[in-house]
Amino acid sequence: MLHCRHLLLVLGDQLDCDSPLLRDADPHSDVVWMAEVVEESTHVWSHKARIVLFLSAMRHFAQWLREQGFEVRYTKLGEAQSGSFAQALAADCERLEPEALRVVQPGDHRVLEALRLAASAADRPLQILEDTHFLCTMAEFRAHAHGRKQLRMEYFYREMRRKHDILMDAGQPVGGDWNYDQQNRKAFDKQGPNPGPRDIPEGAFFEPDALTRDVIADVEARFPKHPGTLTHFRWPVTRQQALLALDDFLQQRLPRFGDFQDAMWAGEPFLFHARLSTSLNLKLLHPLEVVQGAEAAWRQRPQCYPLAAVEGFIRQVLGWREYVRGIYWLAMPDYLERNALDAQHPLPDFYWTGDTQMHCLRQAIEQTLAHGYAHHIQRLMVTGLYAMMLGVHPRQVHEWYLAVYVDAVEWAELPNTLGMSQYADGGTMASKPYAATGKYIQRMSNYCEGCRYRPEEAVGPTACPFTTLYWDFLSRHREALAGNHRMGMQLRNLDRLTPEKLEAVRHQAQAHRDSVLAERTTKQPAPS
Ligand code: FAD
Ligand code: SF4
Repeated sequence: MLHCRHLLLVLGDQLDCDSPLLRDADPHSDVVWMAEVVEESTHVWSHKARIVLFLSAMRHFAQWLREQGFEVRYTKLGEAQSGSFAQALAADCERLEPEALRVVQPGDHRVLEALRLAASAADRPLQILEDTHFLCTMAEFRAHAHGRKQLRMEYFYREMRRKHDILMDAGQPVGGDWNYDQQNRKAFDKQGPNPGPRDIPEGAFFEPDALTRDVIADVEARFPKHPGTLTHFRWPVTRQQALLALDDFLQQRLPRFGDFQDAMWAGEPFLFHARLSTSLNLKLLHPLEVVQGAEAAWRQRPQCYPLAAVEGFIRQVLGWREYVRGIYWLAMPDYLERNALDAQHPLPDFYWTGDTQMHCLRQAIEQTLAHGYAHHIQRLMVTGLYAMMLGVHPRQVHEWYLAVYVDAVEWAELPNTLGMSQYADGGTMASKPYAATGKYIQRMSNYCEGCRYRPEEAVGPTACPFTTLYWDFLSRHREALAGNHRMGMQLRNLDRLTPEKLEAVRHQAQAHRDSVLAERTTKQPAPS
């Protein structure tokens, strides 16, 4: 075909079999367009597994589209035009002379802007379709936010429960409450997650097929210096695999999800977590089928599924996931520049290697480099907490999270990082900074047992850096946090420290900061 009506742009995180783009398409006059552009793998220093996941899932999706009778114009990495969206689109517009370009609303602001520029450079209209993958439209989120002084996920979540009739009986939340978190979030006892009936099921992992092995070889050859390893790459890359992964989670791990969703254990990267964020973010799974699947499991076998576990899981997908997307689009592009705590330090080098004596950080970072995965509490209360209390510039923290996680897409990552974990948005996402001493990590994990530091000590040679930095953080931001009533107790405890103790803490915090930042050799390319 030399001339086409619509060029249908399918982006790497839009691998949706039920996309509105395909529903209205005419395979005789429309061409599907997909492109592996180098820019998408290098604008942050992407983990190799993140690159493989996107490219492998894209190539599988292109194969599926061709089986459905679509003509697919697919640019592979390494082709002359593969540098950027603009280059690839310009070349194909010249060749196919489309009347218009069509795309489903991109997830990231940066990509939307790049496409607008590329379409205008190619002198073609760009038609943007509503993204039906999400459970809350942009207009609905704007209406929810309108006139509210402060946004809170819990109220948004209740609206979503009502709207989609999830865990509702006759208009009321099942069991009488909206939220059962008090029953969740336990720590393991001393024996950890593996004795007897609590054994963590192995779970569904997917051996790379020939197509994925090709992608792995390409990525190793083109991005050899990028962080992470591919030895353990077993993520789902097709809808069929994603459905198996969903079923496996619902059958095997959902019953214990609530109990241990905040727990951490050395050498156990996945515990009872769903591992579904990659499939959701690539759109191999629809969030409604995920939450309905969880509800159906509970309704069919309530004796096997505690309501607290099911409600806790559904809240993550129906509540948090939709909420962060709403915040992202409400606040971008300014959101990216926020730095409410005026944090200015660079990210320590060990975030790229795991080479640190702080055992909790070593565990979280090493598993991230091995799998491209850490669960929410590891991201929030280990790597995120440390960066916030050290005073790392939020832009650098954001670029690290966007680079190293296989599920990282900016609309999900940025509000979680900059807002929830760094409090850089001054309270849009979280009502207070998630600041804590090493004792929180001691309570929720066994990391401290294998560490040279002591979580209860704030000063001295074996003081836990988290504990030292906690008091230092509160004292540095005392004034800014004083008006936040949720910080009252923490600030009163700060005031109980003697001036001598506080001085010693601040001195030790500065020495720690100097030592971790002096070790910087800047192995990664300079952040933007
Ligand atoms: P589970 O813990 O089993 O949770 C189930 C599902 O709920 C997830 O698959 C995810 O789709 C959804 N979910 C849970 N919490 C959140 C949340 N806070 N925001 C959005 N969705 C949520 N999630 C991403 O999908 N992409 C990111 O780039 C990302 N970056 C993050 C950065 C930081 C600093 C933090 C604190 C969290 C981030 N999250 C991100 C949220 C969360 O950590 C991951 O969704 C989760 O760890 C994925 O693993 P899982 O599928 O096993 O999730
Ligand atoms: Fe982390 Fe401190 Fe515990 Fe060591 S003692 S594992 S640094 S919290």
